[in-house]
This record gives sequence, structure tokens and C-alpha cells, in this order.
Amino acid sequence: MSEECIFCRIVAGELPADIVYKDEDFLAFRDIMPKAPTHVLIIPKAHTASVGELTDGQQELAGRLIILAKNLAKKEGIAGKGYRLVINCGPEGGQVVPHLHLHLLGGRQMDARLG
Ligand code: AMP
Repeated sequence: MSEECIFCRIVAGELPADIVYKDEDFLAFRDIMPKAPTHVLIIPKAHTASVGELTDGQQELAGRLIILAKNLAKKEGIAGKGYRLVINCGPEGGQVVPHLHLHLLGGRQMDARLG
């Protein structure tokens, strides 16, 4: 755990969050400033700063993150119409919180243009 990381503090129960899913390795909670009717952040509990920090040994973790997003999309009722998964990496990628997280966005039409 990183002491200053807000997502680590949510994992530790030190900061409140609207948690929609948790297991041994992952936590999912609603984004505090939602950009869509459904906006869930899915994070590995263990601190990894970004995709850029993932190692070859974390392939399984990275794969499970996407499968979990798919399952949560179903649970949130947005799987039928479709949804968007986003992972920002680093400053130019738009990453603000330096703890790896995947955005699950849905419930409205997404702009086909990225960026
Ligand atoms: P990113 O720009 O990819 O780093 O996304 C960070 C996301 O975290 C943003 O969409 C924020 O609204 C969201 N966020 C920041 N702090 C919190 C918090 N305490 N609880 C829930 N979501 C948060």
C-alpha cells in the first residue's frame, strides 16, 4: 500500500467509496465525478501506479481486470447496449490518480472519436 495513494486508502477503508464489487484482488467503486450514467472504476487492490508499471508476471492480473469489467457491465445492466472501457496511462494519457484503474462507462451513447 502507498500511504499517499487515494485508491490505496479506499482499499484500506480509510476513505469512503460507493463499492459495487470486491474480492481478494480487486475492488470496484463508483467514480466520484461520473462521466456517464454508469461510471465504475475497477482497481487491483495491490498498488501498481499505471499500465506502464505492469510486469510480464502480471499478465493474469491484467486479463482478470478486463474479464471483471465485462462481468460488472452485465451486473450494471449495460452489457446489452454496449459500454466503453478506458485505462489512462501517465500525464499525457490523462491519468490523474497514480493507481492502476479501469473506467467502465455506459448508459449513454459514447462519442466514436477518442480523445
Ligand atoms: P484518471 O484520470 O484515469 O486517473 O481517473 C481518475 C478518476 O478517479 C476520475 O474519474 C475521478 O473522478 C476519480 N476519483 C478521484 N477520486 C475519487 C474518489 N475518492 N472516489 C471515486 N472516484 C474518484
